[in-house]
Amino acid sequence: MTARAPVKPDLADDLAASLAAANVMACLQCRKCTDGCPVAARADLKPHELVRMVQFGQRAEVLASRLIWECTSCQTCITRCPQKVDIAAMNDELRRISSAEGKSGDAAAAIFNNAFLNGVRRRGRVYEVGLMAAFKLRTRRFFEDVGKLPMMLRKGKLPLLPKSVAGRAEREAMFQRIAQAGGKK
Ligand code: SF4
Ligand code: SF4
Repeated sequence: MTARAPVKPDLADDLAASLAAANVMACLQCRKCTDGCPVAARADLKPHELVRMVQFGQRAEVLASRLIWECTSCQTCITRCPQKVDIAAMNDELRRISSAEGKSGDAAAAIFNNAFLNGVRRRGRVYEVGLMAAFKLRTRRFFEDVGKLPMMLRKGKLPLLPKSVAGRAEREAMFQRIAQAGGKK
């Protein structure tokens, strides 16, 4: 008798705990989330489509979706949803898995997300110059958006020195807790 290869759990199993919290399986496909979503028109998938694909365990497509990175966590979807499906929380978890497994279909969005969170972790607020430098160095998109520089300088949006807010130890503890919670899933 030959040994059976271990079966990789599908996406629904992977996310069982998070999906329960986000109530994903309760979706009725009414599309109210999509109708109110500010990024639905430009993303590769609509929110209700992404929820359906998660329900069906379409792991590869879900983890490579641009929508999970373009979601702004604005919460409009859960506000409109008759079933209180928390798509923003679902997307948080999908980003974590996609990033951990290197599955992001939009590497630039993942790089921006990581650079943004690193800045928040270190300083408690975003330092725009550092964020742009980290993003451009890693994506090599050196000349994209240079046309916006004069306007940003004029409006004082690019301070030369970073500012930090208090609470670094608390932030660090929070990020550690999130990392540990993610590792347990
Ligand atoms: S609004 Fe809620 S129930 Fe309706 S499609 Fe979106 S997630 Fe599903
Ligand atoms: S939280 Fe994300 S998916 Fe929901 S409406 Fe806002 S941008 Fe769209």
